[in-house]
Amino acid sequence: MRNRMYLKSMKLYDYPWKYNLDYLIGRGVKVSFGQVMKNYTSFKIGGPADVVVTPRNNLELKYTLDFLSELVNFGINYHIIGGASNLLIADEGIRGLVVRLCYISPIIFDGEYIWVSGAEPLSRIISYCSEQGFGGLEYLSGIPGTVGGSIIMNAGTNSEAIGQSVRHVHTWYSGEKEYLNKDLDFSYRHSTLQKTNEIVTRVALKVKREDSLKIIKKVREFLLKRRKGQPLTLPSAGSVFKNPSNYSAGQLLEEVGVKGLRVGGAQVSYTHSNFIINIDEASSYDVLALIRLMKNSVQEKTDIILEPEIIYLGG
Ligand SMILES: Cc1cc2nc3c(=O)[nH]c(=O)nc-3n(C[C@H](O)[C@H](O)[C@H](O)COP(=O)(O)OP(=O)(O)OC[C@H]3O[C@@H](n4cnc5c(N)ncnc54)[C@H](O)[C@@H]3O)c2cc1C
Repeated sequence: MRNRMYLKSMKLYDYPWKYNLDYLIGRGVKVSFGQVMKNYTSFKIGGPADVVVTPRNNLELKYTLDFLSELVNFGINYHIIGGASNLLIADEGIRGLVVRLCYISPIIFDGEYIWVSGAEPLSRIISYCSEQGFGGLEYLSGIPGTVGGSIIMNAGTNSEAIGQSVRHVHTWYSGEKEYLNKDLDFSYRHSTLQKTNEIVTRVALKVKREDSLKIIKKVREFLLKRRKGQPLTLPSAGSVFKNPSNYSAGQLLEEVGVKGLRVGGAQVSYTHSNFIINIDEASSYDVLALIRLMKNSVQEKTDIILEPEIIYLGG
C-alpha cells in the first residue's frame, strides 16, 4: 500500500514499466521506493531514488535481467550502482530506476581462473583468496567496491589495476555478451564498458597458487599503507581526480595549497589532498563547489586540467 502511495506521489504511475515491478516483487526481489541514496554511498551523500531494485543472489539477478529486458524494449534506461564507493549522488536523488548490485555469491575456481559475480565485494574476494591460497589480487585489498564497479573503473593502485587480472567478462544488456581482456581496452581508470550501460555479471580473474600466510602478509601491507595515506575514518568516494600523465593529482593539489579547504560540510582531507571528506552532513553542492575550487586552483597555477575520477549521478 505504502509503495503504491509512493508511486502515486512520485507520479511513477506515468512510467510505462510500473506494473512490471510486480513481477520482481512477486519473486521476492527487494524493490524500494524513494530510498535515500546516502544510506548506500561511501560518501554518505545522495537524495531519494524513485525505485531501487536490489537483487540479493544470482537467481534474483536473473529475474531482474528479465525485468530489465522489458524496460529496454520500452526504450527506457536504468542506472547501475555497485558498492557506490566511487559516486557522488545528487541531493535531489535519481529519477527512474536504479539497480543495486552488491551481494555475496559462490566463487568458483576452474583450475585456472576464479569466477566471481559482478556484484561480489572485492573484500570478499581478498578473504577467499587468502583462505584458499590464491595469490595475485592482493593489490585490490582495501578498495571498497564490487567487481562490476572495479571493472568499469579499472580500479587499482598507481602501479596495478584489475584489468591486468581479468581474463573473461560476461555482461548483459538486453542479452548476454562475453569479452576477452583485449576487447575492453583497459588503461588507467578506463575500460570501454564505461561508455555502455552493460551490466557486468561474471568475471574470470587470473590467480596463482601461493602460500596463504604469504598472501595475508601482503594484504596486511597494502591495508597498512592505505591506513597511513588515506582518510579512512570519514566518508569519502576515494580519489576525486585521476592522475594526469606524469603527475600525481594529490601532489599537485598539495602544492597549490588546497589541503583543509572547506565548503559547507565537505573538506579537502589533511591526510590526502586528492580526497574530499564529508565532515558534517555535506551536500552534493558542497562537494561540487569544492571540486571546482580544487580544479581551478591547479589549473590557474600549473595549466594542468584535472579530470574527475568520481562519477556524478542524478540531479
Ligand atoms: C576510501 C576509498 C578508497 C578508495 N581507493 C581506491 C583505490 O585505491 N583505487 C581505485 O581504483 N579506486 C578506489 N576507490 C574508488 C572505488 O572504491 C572504486 O572505483 C571501486 O572499484 C568502485 O566500485 P563500486 O562497486 O563501488 O562502484 P560504484 O561506485 O557503485 O560505481 C562505479 C561505476 O561502475 C558502474 N557499475 C557498478 N557496478 C556495476 C556492474 N555490476 N555492472 C556495470 N556497471 C557497474 C556504475 O554504474 C558506475 O559507473 C576508493 C574509494 C574509497 C571510498
